Amino acid sequence: MNKIDFNKPYFTGKETDYIRDAVLNLKISGDGVYSKKCHVFFENKFRFKKVLLTTSCTDALEMAAILLDIQPGDEVIAPSYTFVSTVNAFILRGAKIVFADSSDESPNIDVKNIEKLITEKTKAIIAVHYAGIACDMDALVRICDEKNLFLIEDAAQAIDSFYNEKPLGSFGHLAAFSFHETKNIISGEGGMLVINDERFIARAEIIREKGTNRSAFFRGEVDKYNWVDIGSSFLPSDLIAAFLYAQLEKLDEIQNRRKEIWNIYYNNLLPLANSGMVKLPHIPSYATNNAHMFFLVCRTLEERSALIQHLKDQHIQAVFHYLSLHKSNYYQDKHDGRELPWCDHYSDCLVRLPFYYELSDEDLVRITTAINSFFTK
Ligand SMILES: *Cc1c(COP(=O)(O)O)cnc(C)c1O
Repeated sequence: MNKIDFNKPYFTGKETDYIRDAVLNLKISGDGVYSKKCHVFFENKFRFKKVLLTTSCTDALEMAAILLDIQPGDEVIAPSYTFVSTVNAFILRGAKIVFADSSDESPNIDVKNIEKLITEKTKAIIAVHYAGIACDMDALVRICDEKNLFLIEDAAQAIDSFYNEKPLGSFGHLAAFSFHETKNIISGEGGMLVINDERFIARAEIIREKGTNRSAFFRGEVDKYNWVDIGSSFLPSDLIAAFLYAQLEKLDEIQNRRKEIWNIYYNNLLPLANSGMVKLPHIPSYATNNAHMFFLVCRTLEERSALIQHLKDQHIQAVFHYLSLHKSNYYQDKHDGRELPWCDHYSDCLVRLPFYYELSDEDLVRITTAINSFFTK
C-alpha cells in the first residue's frame, strides 16, 4: 500500500522556466520583473490597495509590528490557538500578548469575549483566519473602530478566501499572507504584506528596504537614497517571485481541485458527524471556503491519538496542530492565568487530514473509509 503523506508540494511545471528567465534577465535580487508581476496580480485580482512580497509571512507580521510602532508594554490581543509567528512579531517589539480563546464553533478567535480583554494599553487585535475560514470581520472591524485599535489579519492560510464577497486580507489595516510549502500557493518560503491603510505605504517600503528610501529612489522620486528609518531586509529574491508567479497563473485550477478534495472529505465524513462522533469544519454563511485544510475534531485527546495511530497503521499521515501558546514553555509564566478551554480543546482534539492538489479520489476514499472504520469498529 502506498503511503499517503500529509502534504506534498504541487509544481505547475512553469516554475523552472520562469526562474531560468529571471536568471537570463540578469536581475535576481528583490523587486525585479517577477516581483512586479506578482504585485500586479494581487492588486488586480483581489483589489488590495498595496502589496509587497516578503521573505515569509513571519516577516510580513514583523513589518506590521514595526509599522504600528509597537512599544514595550503595549498590549496585543491574539488567539492562543495559532502559529507562533502570529505573536512573536509583536513580542520582538516588546508587546505583551493578551491571549484570547477560540470559539466553540471554530478555532477562530471568539469575538463575543474580546471586548473584556481590551485595556488602556491595547494597541491591536490580530485575527487569524484558521483553515482559511473567515473570522467574524464585521464584529472585529466594529470593535477596532470603536476602541481605536489596529486590526491585523494573519491571513497566512487565507488566500482566495472571502467574507461577504470581500477578500480576506482587505479588512485589517495590514494583513500578512504566506507562500510556505504547506499553503495553497507556494514558493518554498515566502509571504506578502497587504497594506490597506494608505498611511503605512511609504514607510512599509522603507522598512522592507533596510530602512532606506531605495524604492522611492528607483522610481526617481528622490535623487539619492538614504538611511531614513529602522528596517531590515524583508524583500525576497526575484527567483522566489518567479516561482510564485508560475503558481499564481494556476491559482484557479489549484483552487478548483482543492475544493473538490475538500467536498469529498466533507460528504464522506458527514454521516460520522451527524452521528455525533466527530465535528467537521463549520463554514459560516458570511464565509467562503478556500480549501486550505480539512480537519476534524474528536471528542477526547485519547480518541484523537488512537485515530492518528489507526491511520498511521494504514500508511496515512494525519497530524494534530497547534499547542496552546498561553501554555507554551516560553509564555506560560507571562500569561495572566485565564483558562482558554476551547483553545485547549482544539489543541487536544483537532486532527488534520492529508491535503494536497495531487491527492486522488481513490486516496480520498481510502482515507475516509479508514476513518469511518475507526469510529464504527
Ligand atoms: C504558515 C503560517 C504562518 C507563518 O508563515 P511563514 O510564511 O512560514 O512565515 C503564520 N501564521 C499562520 C496562521 C500560518 O498558518
